[in-house]
Amino acid sequence: MIHAMLKNKGTFFVLGIDAATWSIITPNLSKLRNFKRLIEIGKSKVITLKKTISASVWCGMFSGKLLEEHKHESYVVNGELVKLDFIWDVLAREGKKVKALNAPFVVPPYSFGLDFKPVGFGLPTNEKEWNEELERVTEKTKELLAEKPDVLIPVYTLLDRIQHFHWGEDYVVEWYKRMDEKIGELIFDTGFLDLEGNNKLIVISDHGFCSFGEAKVQTLPEYTKEGKLKGDHHENAFLVTVNVDYEINRPQDVFYVVKEDFY
Ligand SMILES: [Zn+2]
Repeated sequence: MIHAMLKNKGTFFVLGIDAATWSIITPNLSKLRNFKRLIEIGKSKVITLKKTISASVWCGMFSGKLLEEHKHESYVVNGELVKLDFIWDVLAREGKKVKALNAPFVVPPYSFGLDFKPVGFGLPTNEKEWNEELERVTEKTKELLAEKPDVLIPVYTLLDRIQHFHWGEDYVVEWYKRMDEKIGELIFDTGFLDLEGNNKLIVISDHGFCSFGEAKVQTLPEYTKEGKLKGDHHENAFLVTVNVDYEINRPQDVFYVVKEDFY
C-alpha cells in the first residue's frame, strides 16, 4: 500500500467549453492548432444528447444524476438542486482539493473553493464581455493549475452566446481561434501534459450547435432583446480525453470517472 501512497496522482483537469461543436472544429483544424494537437494526442468522441438544455446537461455532468433524478431543467435554482451531491462536494469531504470555476448549471454560474465574479452575470452578450470572460477564466485557471489541486473544473460560456447570435458567420471561427489560443496556454504552455501521465484531462462541451431552425429543441426565443438568433443547440457534443482510461459516453460519466480516480 506504500506504493499507492507514494504515487503522485497529479491533477484531474476537466475543461468545460459550453457549446464547443465538432461541426466548427473539424473543418477548421488547420486554423485551430491546439485543438488539432489535443485531438492527435487524446481520444476524441461525439457525445449524443437526448436533451440539449445547458443547465441540465452541466448539472448531470457534475452530479452524475440523470435529468429524471436531478430534475434541473432551467437555470433557476430549485429545491432538488440544493440536495444534490456534486463532484466537488463528494471529493472535498474526502479531503481532496477541488476547484470549480464558472460552472453554468445556474445563473450566475457556480464556483467552488474560490471567489469568481462571472462576467455579465454568466450571460455575456457583447464582444467586450466575451473577451472579458475568455481572459478572466483563462487567467484564473492558470493561477489554479499552478496550485496543483486534485481536481480543477473551469467552464467557458462565451462560445454558446456567440453562436446564438452569429451562427453561420466567419466571426464564429474567429472566436474558436481565440479559444484555441487559450487552450494552448492552459494545456500546452503550462506543461500540464508533460508529467509522465499523472495529470488527466477531459475537454468537453454540453451540446453542439446548428442553425436556429434545425435544432430539435428550441432553447431560446428567436427574437431576443439583443436581436434575432441565428443558431441553437445541436445534440452532438464535443469530447477529448487525455490519460483517462474509462469511457465517457454521456455527460454523467464525467462525475463517475473523476470520482473513481480517487477511490
Ligand atoms: Zn450550453
